[in-house]
Amino acid sequence: MQRRDFCTRTLLAGATASVPAIRLLAAAADGINTDVPAVTLSGETTVLTKSALESLARGLRGDLLLATDAGYDSARRLWNAMIDRHPAVIVRCSGAADVARAVNFSREHDLLIAVRSGGHSFPGKSSCDQGLVIDLSRLRYVDVDVAARTARVAAGALGADVDREAQFHGLATTLGTVSDTGVAGLALGGGFGWLSRRLGLACDNLLAVEIVTADGRIMHASATQNPDLFWAVRGGGGNFGVVTEFTCQLHPIGPQVYAGYVTYPLSRRREALELYARLAVEAPREANIDFGLETSPAGQLGAHLYLCHTGSESSADALAKRLRSLGQPMNDTLRRMPYLEWQSAFDGPSPSPFRNYLKSGFVTAFDARLVDYLAGAFEPLPSFALGAYSMHAGGAIGDVAPTGTAFAHRDALANVMVYGGWADAGADQERVAAIRAAWERVEPYTRGFYVNLNDAAAEPTRSNYGPNLARLAAVKKRYDPHNRFRLNANVQPA
Ligand SMILES: Cc1cc2nc3c(=O)[nH]c(=O)nc-3n(C[C@H](O)[C@H](O)[C@H](O)COP(=O)(O)OP(=O)(O)OC[C@H]3O[C@@H](n4cnc5c(N)ncnc54)[C@H](O)[C@@H]3O)c2cc1C
Repeated sequence: MQRRDFCTRTLLAGATASVPAIRLLAAAADGINTDVPAVTLSGETTVLTKSALESLARGLRGDLLLATDAGYDSARRLWNAMIDRHPAVIVRCSGAADVARAVNFSREHDLLIAVRSGGHSFPGKSSCDQGLVIDLSRLRYVDVDVAARTARVAAGALGADVDREAQFHGLATTLGTVSDTGVAGLALGGGFGWLSRRLGLACDNLLAVEIVTADGRIMHASATQNPDLFWAVRGGGGNFGVVTEFTCQLHPIGPQVYAGYVTYPLSRRREALELYARLAVEAPREANIDFGLETSPAGQLGAHLYLCHTGSESSADALAKRLRSLGQPMNDTLRRMPYLEWQSAFDGPSPSPFRNYLKSGFVTAFDARLVDYLAGAFEPLPSFALGAYSMHAGGAIGDVAPTGTAFAHRDALANVMVYGGWADAGADQERVAAIRAAWERVEPYTRGFYVNLNDAAAEPTRSNYGPNLARLAAVKKRYDPHNRFRLNANVQPA
């Protein structure tokens, strides 16, 4: 909306304190000069009239972006360069009321809705073609209550936002292993990170959420307020509404931890993998050990054992000794370092310059045949065109019953992935096929998958909720009976 930008800039430049803000917003809305084609929930085409859009824009504290707007192209970009969707409207929200207005607008026009926070969805669930994107990426406050050891976290905050605010007070909570992912998508689907074996998943550390439901109500959910909704959002993803704020439990962590990785040549990957399979079971819960057949942050293709240990020095030293027990590694970065340094060690540019694709599944043990495949026929490629990664689970994650929250996979020992990233769009077909082919060899040894990573068809998604499906479907019926929030690991209303 170039005219709107022009109007806003001109008016703001000349604005004095005596000009009411509402007048500026109204002037900004004058910039909408066309009807906009869009799609409904059922995929039919519809038209959003200029006057309907103007009315929505006037009510917002945040921005309404259309394809003609200067900021539209950067606003529609997600982390994964392979996702190239063109929403009809993006509502960049400034608060829960904006979210409620956007939800009401989309309901009144029966529009397809996508919800975006950090935008790191691998399969691009946080955008859509010709629908309405509710964009929370500008809501990034983190408000730490040091005495209570809690934080109120706005839905658009990234992991790094929480890490930095909380670590200032020597506190932390479980977040992802890459700190530029959004807190919202991560925590709603589960949330594995360097602290999850000690503190549980990110969703296990939620104390409350503020959520806008499909009827436009701004609700609160916790163990004592709307407990069914609170149970469902902890692992049920974005199925039940748009979360605008999380209250998280914080814990004393660091500021120093023992972390880093050792790299062995690919020729030793069998021994490295066998060592990992043992350590994944035997490690104390203060330790999280991941394994990668991939290119490390230092650019070396090899077999990597990654460690973050938040326990005693003697326990960390003993574990490090075992990680180094295969002889001289090609690279050894294990040392005491600030927790914040390790948390951001894998951060990359966002959006990613790469086209990314990934398949993953949970294992409860490393079957010898899986080790055989990864140590033999699986060939990681330079850079990260093809890699395999295992994210450690177990520990405190398993302290919660499978039905204690919507996240059911409490017995997992690890989340195993095959993934790739490449720059050339022309290579998409070949790379995706190579990843799928490798995954076909890994999948038989997995049971269930992490909803935050996979884009599965409806039936595997339903089964993946295991014993929680019926209860989730009932909660869905209560809060989203028309399945308006469907761009996620979707639960159909009962
Ligand atoms: C580089 C990278 C590293 C990762 N590392 C980890 C890791 O270490 N551990 C881990 O557990 N996962 C990891 N993930 C996966 C991550 O959990 C998901 O990508 C997650 O969805 C990211 O959250 P987001 O807010 O950025 O997602 P978005 O792309 O914004 O949204 C993803 C999904 O969540 C829904 N959603 C987003 N915000 C809200 C909201 N406010 N209310 C309701 N629904 C919402 C969206 O509709 C969509 O379905 C990683 C992903 C990437 C790309």
